[in-house]
Amino acid sequence: MKISKDLQKLNSHGYEVLLSSYLQELGKVGIGEFGLWRSPYTQEYEEAANLVAGWMKEHGFEVKKDGIGNIIGRIEGTDNQARAVTMGSHLDTVRGGGIYDGMLGVAGGIIAAGYLLKTYGRPQNPIEVIAFIGEEGSRFSGLMGSKWMAGDLEEKELVKVDENGISLKAAAQAFGYSLSPSGSTPRSDVEAFLELHIEQGPVLEAKGCPIGIVSGITGMRQAELTIRGRSDHAGTTPMGMRHDALLAAAKMIGAMDLCVRQSGGDTVFTVGRISANPGAVNVVAAETVFTIDMRDPDPKKLKGLYSQLEEETLKVAAQTGVLVEWKNILAVEPVPCSPILRDILAEAARKAGLDYHEMVSGAGHDAIMAARFAPIGMLFVPSTGGRSHCGEEYTSPSQCMAGVTVLAEAIRQLAYKNKY
Ligand SMILES: [Zn+2]
Repeated sequence: MKISKDLQKLNSHGYEVLLSSYLQELGKVGIGEFGLWRSPYTQEYEEAANLVAGWMKEHGFEVKKDGIGNIIGRIEGTDNQARAVTMGSHLDTVRGGGIYDGMLGVAGGIIAAGYLLKTYGRPQNPIEVIAFIGEEGSRFSGLMGSKWMAGDLEEKELVKVDENGISLKAAAQAFGYSLSPSGSTPRSDVEAFLELHIEQGPVLEAKGCPIGIVSGITGMRQAELTIRGRSDHAGTTPMGMRHDALLAAAKMIGAMDLCVRQSGGDTVFTVGRISANPGAVNVVAAETVFTIDMRDPDPKKLKGLYSQLEEETLKVAAQTGVLVEWKNILAVEPVPCSPILRDILAEAARKAGLDYHEMVSGAGHDAIMAARFAPIGMLFVPSTGGRSHCGEEYTSPSQCMAGVTVLAEAIRQLAYKNKY
């Protein structure tokens, strides 16, 4: 495959070293008893935000922070009617997180846009790199910065408190973020949003593939099921005369798992929590409570399968003489990526001489909210061992740089309108 000369230049050692140094430097800000932890409106978050703003300025961006604390680095375009071509990710981390999740999309965006400005001069469309605040929900609700930009952060979320009783509003204002103008209107000046992110799963590594092009971000259903049976003596109650809530739950889980597996495709299904009452060794369980989490990128399938799972549990309930009660906890619809941006990313990967794999994102990202104000595209780079949200999270410098190269080429196509 022929690799364009300009992309080779970007792939040269200097940029890779710079990208690594950004990630390493950010990775030191917020190290404490939990490992790396940077939640919104803390000294360490501000320190990281200022580092990022400084790097943006060094590359020739104009930098501003919006009312909630998102950092926006902008390169003005030559066409002042044109909408912005944007990219980015988040700057906060989970408690004990790694140094690539979120940060790669920010640091990589700065490198990609900085390189484009240096090599090709001012673009036709404005280019922006956005560092979103509060994606992980490790202090307040997740996706808060991108939700703000989409004009969807409601007043009731602003008054929600963290574990120390401090509201989002109070925390933001303590750091000088006004939360105004109220995020009631989504941005209307954005042409596209691209997010480069680590995969956080094992697929790309297993395939030996350097680039994942995301077809869509998965939808989700979560529910809590309560199974009610009857507690009886474990020694004296014959097997045929029991209403065993735990056994019924086990059968239901097995039936639902089978149902999901037989449906094929991308669906994933998890029972992450289960408890039984009274919870004694020698007593038949009267009640069992467990959760289910099911994800699929196809809204129709997600909906259909979810009601199929309910039917499966009702069948088991009838066979085992128990009652089942469903409580829906969460319903998130899938977000498809723009087919045009997927094509542009695929073309960019080809130009960079990199293999790519089309895949679904099983995790949520800021792009979900960005999709409310612009077409979105996402690309992944491999996560070693599939590990993420932990200190072991690792993607090598050259793997990170491969993602940045594809990102830069895609942004070039979007913002320079094939001028080069
Ligand atoms: Zn992330």
